[in-house]
Amino acid sequence: MKRADIDRLFSALAEVIPAPKTELEYTNSFTLLVSVVLSAQATDKGVNAATPGLFALADTPQAMLELGEEGVREKIKTIGLFNAKARNVIALSRILIERHGGEVPASREALQALPGVGRKTASVVMNEAFGEATIAVDTHVFRVANRTGLAPGRTPDAVEKKLEAIVPERWKKGAHHWLILHGRYTCLARKPHCWICVIADICPFKPKTPDPEEEARLKAEARVAGRRRAPPTPRGETRRQTPAARKKAPRAR
Ligand code: SF4
Repeated sequence: MKRADIDRLFSALAEVIPAPKTELEYTNSFTLLVSVVLSAQATDKGVNAATPGLFALADTPQAMLELGEEGVREKIKTIGLFNAKARNVIALSRILIERHGGEVPASREALQALPGVGRKTASVVMNEAFGEATIAVDTHVFRVANRTGLAPGRTPDAVEKKLEAIVPERWKKGAHHWLILHGRYTCLARKPHCWICVIADICPFKPKTPDPEEEARLKAEARVAGRRRAPPTPRGETRRQTPAARKKAPRAR
């Protein structure tokens, strides 16, 4: 994608999403970290439904340790992979206390050394909690980057490298959020909402999804026009014979 189009893409998204941020609910960097760990292979909505109950009891590593693995499991059992996630939350809380004075570290290396924290989770935490211009590539970012031609790549790592290289500094901090939110609410996987998309003019994806209301209107108009054009039925003849009428009708020899 040309530099001018990249600018155009982000400025259009910034206009409709002026304050891009994660949709995960959290109260401090620790609860953010826990929420992001819980969101692996789960929806933000599902995580947000479970975490208020968890964070009301434990919003620090120490309180989480005191709640214990069984207590965490009980609070997050509606989230997929909750057994492994409860184990990781307790293990990472212990490491935060033992190695980081109970704080969430601001370095990628230290974050990725925590149980259940991969590159994507570390990038989200660094961006959201520490204001770093990191770009985490999840399923939405991957799809939007490929469809729009912004940063095509076969793997999330390849897309991330391209985004790092081509996104101008002024858009980098928000890029990850803009692309996620655009993918989640407009550029949907199965049926992208191209008819309301603010970057449709620079997106090469084909075929664009038409406006369903406009499509229904055109179909209705075509039906009416078709009826008007149909030849008049001769008097006394039905357009379609019923089986009974067909029996009565003399056979052609
Ligand atoms: S035009 Fe359609 S495919 Fe392209 S970014 Fe917009 S919603 Fe996605």
